Amino acid sequence: MSKKPAFAVGDSTEMLCSVCDLEQPHKVLTVTKLGVITKAACETCETASTFTRGVKTSVAMGSGKSASPYDRNRKYRKGQAMTHDKFGRGEVTAVIEPHKIDVIFGDRVRRLIHSQE
Ligand SMILES: [Zn+2]
Repeated sequence: MSKKPAFAVGDSTEMLCSVCDLEQPHKVLTVTKLGVITKAACETCETASTFTRGVKTSVAMGSGKSASPYDRNRKYRKGQAMTHDKFGRGEVTAVIEPHKIDVIFGDRVRRLIHSQE
């Protein structure tokens, strides 16, 4: 196996952005002594991602609307942003019924339940 490339703060590298849902250039924000990226920000949406041992562990939203994780017990309104375990970042496009919402993730709309309490 060849050596892994070592990165330095300020480097740019392509990686998957979970918000853009695309491979995007990311600016390296923090690295370990060995040059392993621990934090990098998407240059397109400014979302910063943190990594532990090369695995993405969390995503912090950039300058966009704040989005909290999808919670079926919560009541959503049109225009609210959320993050979903599988689908990533989404925004409510319509409230269909008292317990159903349409949410757009990337370019796909999914129907989710809400307000279950
Ligand atoms: Zn992005």
